[in-house]
Amino acid sequence: MKILKDVFELNKAVKNYKNVGFVPTMGGIHKGHASLIKISQKNSKETIVSIFVNPTQFNQRKDFKNYPRNIKKDISILRKLKVNYLFLPDVNEIYKKKTKNFKLNKSDKILCAKYRKGHFEGVLNVMNRLLSIVKSKHVFMGKKDFQQYILIKRILGKKYKINIVGCDTIRENNKIALSTRNKLLKKSAIKIASKIAIKMDKLKRLSQINKSVDLSKCKSELENKFKIKVDYLEFRDEKKLKLNNFKSKYRLFIAYHINGVRLIDNF
Ligand code: AMP
Repeated sequence: MKILKDVFELNKAVKNYKNVGFVPTMGGIHKGHASLIKISQKNSKETIVSIFVNPTQFNQRKDFKNYPRNIKKDISILRKLKVNYLFLPDVNEIYKKKTKNFKLNKSDKILCAKYRKGHFEGVLNVMNRLLSIVKSKHVFMGKKDFQQYILIKRILGKKYKINIVGCDTIRENNKIALSTRNKLLKKSAIKIASKIAIKMDKLKRLSQINKSVDLSKCKSELENKFKIKVDYLEFRDEKKLKLNNFKSKYRLFIAYHINGVRLIDNF
């Protein structure tokens, strides 16, 4: 595996390839990332994985500082997965050029955009920079971060004429979605997160039979039973993320704080 630290090296290494798949990550590589990598390897000639913990998408300095990092372990996992190229830039390399900032429409300020001010503007900013550097044919993104996937597909997929491929969420046996942030959870919090994931899965199934599931009651029950703070618990359609649109495919979205960590998931 070639580890490329700057744009020049990256361009030199992949300039002759046409069918490149790109898997952007913030490291702490887990089975969720691995599944995106495997899908990319199946569908592309060469796969580039990037690891970059993007400071501009964290709305709290402490959250950025505490974000789990273990580059040695990541490199060893990526080698085992037979990744060809790892793009590992530093902040200066990514942010050396001035670019226009992204602004969200009013209708986009829902779910995480409502509760993490500036987060998606930061995500769009860094993805815009990464996509202009990597120039891939496909980008593989997890539906675990569904709102992120939808925004990037709509705004940057169009701009770069790149195929943004949404990939299914990988879960532990206890139903928790794999996430780098899970490393910050105590055992007791993991048990609760597992119970919540199982409950969400059931609620989604129930909603398919009986559309009148009372989510505000469920939200209070979760908060009282597990002593957590729920930012949102909402049914939204997959295409436009409109509330309670049961006519088309929809998902149950949740974000909550537990043990000082904010977790998101959808079912
Ligand atoms: P992150 O490193 O958390 O920024 O995630 C990098 C990519 O992996 C994003 O496209 C995520 O949506 C995706 N991802 C994270 N967790 C999972 C998971 N459990 N299953 C599938 N994809 C995931």
